[in-house]
Amino acid sequence: MERYDVAVVGTGPAGVSAAITAKIRNKKVLLIGDRDLTKKMRQAHEINNYPGFPKVKGEDLAKALSGHLKQMEIEITDVKVVNIYAMGKYFSLQTSGETYEALSVIAATGVMPGKMLDGEEPLVGSGVSYCATCDAPLYRGKDVIVLGYGKEEEKEAAFLSEVARKVIYFPVYNGEPSDPADNVKVIKEVPASVKREGPKMVLTTAQGTVFETDGIFVLRESVSPGALIPGLATDGPHIVVDRQMRTNIKGLFACGDITGKPYQYIKSAGEGNVAALSAVEYLG
Ligand SMILES: Cc1cc2nc3c(=O)[nH]c(=O)nc-3n(C[C@H](O)[C@H](O)[C@H](O)COP(=O)(O)OP(=O)(O)OC[C@H]3O[C@@H](n4cnc5c(N)ncnc54)[C@H](O)[C@@H]3O)c2cc1C
Repeated sequence: MERYDVAVVGTGPAGVSAAITAKIRNKKVLLIGDRDLTKKMRQAHEINNYPGFPKVKGEDLAKALSGHLKQMEIEITDVKVVNIYAMGKYFSLQTSGETYEALSVIAATGVMPGKMLDGEEPLVGSGVSYCATCDAPLYRGKDVIVLGYGKEEEKEAAFLSEVARKVIYFPVYNGEPSDPADNVKVIKEVPASVKREGPKMVLTTAQGTVFETDGIFVLRESVSPGALIPGLATDGPHIVVDRQMRTNIKGLFACGDITGKPYQYIKSAGEGNVAALSAVEYLG
């Protein structure tokens, strides 16, 4: 399998900056994330604190970053990373498509909006899944619950409805889902907690309704770092790093919102640069 020097996970300003610096330092870079970079930039109406771009629209700054990547011949691999495992001398990154290998990893996944459901983290991989493509085959002919934290997750629910017997879909966003399939039941309550009861999974809503199912898909733009990378030192929703953006795992670096407040573009981009230089030093 092809092995990269640096795998950068996340295409916000932190990940883009890290990928650019690693490429300048002649490293073989794998950049994984959303081809359209990050919603948090695209949706910003006007940005006034990114040096050199006064009063810039978020959409235009995102275009400038995309242009920079293109000019440096850095491609975006548009998949979701589901797990990152430290294998000793390298890292294995499992995605919603393939598995990738890299000698070092830079996590630039942004901060997860909101908090996890009660009981969610220990059940990841054991009844709770973050990846429809990876785990749908396990639920062929069974019942699943899908929590969609963004309108784009409706596509994943539609895919699961082709495999599962019955899907209960919770749109955790404003607005109505478009054209759910016949075997999809839409529930507009707020998911609160999950637990396992024997072979079944149980979801309880903030309104107190209880739903029993075979598996629960929790589909968010980003997942908690502890669930993504086993053994990683975290502090609440953040990854613990030093000033060189090193984590407690050798060869694994983090940058951007995921390392803590303030949540700002330029702080993210700056940390991306530091993380990439630290990865280069580590590889050397
Ligand atoms: C509406 C709005 C306006 C804002 N305005 C400003 C402003 O004017 N000035 C300012 O400084 N800041 C502003 N911010 C804050 C700023 O958006 C964030 O600080 C910044 O985007 C963080 O960058 P990041 O690269 O760390 O993470 P993000 O921008 O969150 O990017 C993370 C990326 O990683 C991807 N990702 C996550 N998990 C995975 C995974 N498992 N596999 C693959 N990809 C993954 C995500 O899809 C996303 O593309 C604003 C935020 C919002 C929401």
